[in-house]
Amino acid sequence: MRIAIIGGGIGGLTLALALRREGLDATVHEKTPTFGRVGADINLTPNAVRALDPLGVGEALRAEAARPRFRISRDGYTGEVTSRLPMSDAAEEAYGAPQLTIHRADLMTALEGAVGEDTVRLGHALEGCEATDSGVTLRFADGSSEEADVVVGADGIHSAVRRSILGAEHPEFTGTVAYRGVVPTERVADLPDIDCFTKFWGKDRYTQIVTFPLTRGEETFVFATEGREAWSEESWTTPGRIEDVRAAYGDFHEDARALLEACDDVLISALYVRDPLTTWGEGGMTLLGDAAHPMMPFMAQGAGQAIEDAVVLARNLAAHGSPDGLRRYEDLRRERTAQIQVGSRGNEWLKEGGNADWVYAYDAWTVAV
Ligand SMILES: Cc1cc2nc3c(=O)[nH]c(=O)nc-3n(C[C@H](O)[C@H](O)[C@H](O)COP(=O)(O)OP(=O)(O)OC[C@H]3O[C@@H](n4cnc5c(N)ncnc54)[C@H](O)[C@@H]3O)c2cc1C
Repeated sequence: MRIAIIGGGIGGLTLALALRREGLDATVHEKTPTFGRVGADINLTPNAVRALDPLGVGEALRAEAARPRFRISRDGYTGEVTSRLPMSDAAEEAYGAPQLTIHRADLMTALEGAVGEDTVRLGHALEGCEATDSGVTLRFADGSSEEADVVVGADGIHSAVRRSILGAEHPEFTGTVAYRGVVPTERVADLPDIDCFTKFWGKDRYTQIVTFPLTRGEETFVFATEGREAWSEESWTTPGRIEDVRAAYGDFHEDARALLEACDDVLISALYVRDPLTTWGEGGMTLLGDAAHPMMPFMAQGAGQAIEDAVVLARNLAAHGSPDGLRRYEDLRRERTAQIQVGSRGNEWLKEGGNADWVYAYDAWTVAV
């Protein structure tokens, strides 16, 4: 089977590793010419860590990540603690894997190291693909073309594979932008529970500040949202103005404001909503991760669901070949990812405590294929 993975992000590289574990080779086509230290946080909940561990990256992740002690909810204005769920060792005991919070670049470095250079073609952007009688034809931006038996669109929020299968999409802007910053922890070390995941909840569902440790606790991640009337670009790498977000949170509790005060630079991304897709693929083509089910960040499952997809897809391809394995994978993943996509939009997840088992206890390696 000639397998082409489009996109060498979190889902694409995890898929390459999972396929290799199942005895299948693949080529990853990534549009960026080099892997750099971009992005900010990734929250690897126990379901994601359990899926990654058999792929040989567990040690590298644990060496760089942090392990928040508790997951805390606080009232954004009074600071009152409204829920406090044990994480760290308690999560590991309950789910068989810890929660790891990590800089996206450290996760990517671990995946890149395990995949190896020979599997990835950098600077190779896909323009489009079409099903043919014998497989799929891939057209690249450099004018080249290739044939493959299986094409997996792991090419993120602006997926060229999704466009080829389903046509252009028109996601709806939520009227909200998200800011992400990473600061040295020594600047905020006096704040209570700085080694925990804390969410300060505001007056409506998209007003909040979230913080958690990264980089063995040496860095602290800060996330906040702000209302905007219009926005034109959906991106992970656009610099934002920290003054704007500080002004929006002037009435928040001092512990939350201190987090924004500590930030020098922030990235800004507009939040768009999309309805769950009913079709993910046709013939030898399918989608994975954000290309299939881009999510609002409020359940912290963007990376986790891409990683689960990768493991379930690799196991189905190995067991059933193409196209049967692709359709079985889609059937297995559609409902769970749709439930999380819709839940993330509602932004009520663990506000007053509650049971996280249906998300965290999922085991992509034992789901029946
Ligand atoms: C640069 C960057 C920074 C990010 N920072 C954060 C962050 O700080 N916090 C957070 O929660 N999430 C972040 N994300 C998103 C997060 O990685 C995803 O939401 C999630 O992990 C799902 O992974 P994915 O593999 O589906 O998508 P992604 O991890 O986004 O990977 C998609 C990959 O496809 C590549 N690609 C896109 N189009 C093409 C094409 N036409 N041909 C070939 N390759 C293509 C992209 O360059 C990218 O490497 C970031 C994504 C990117 C690309």
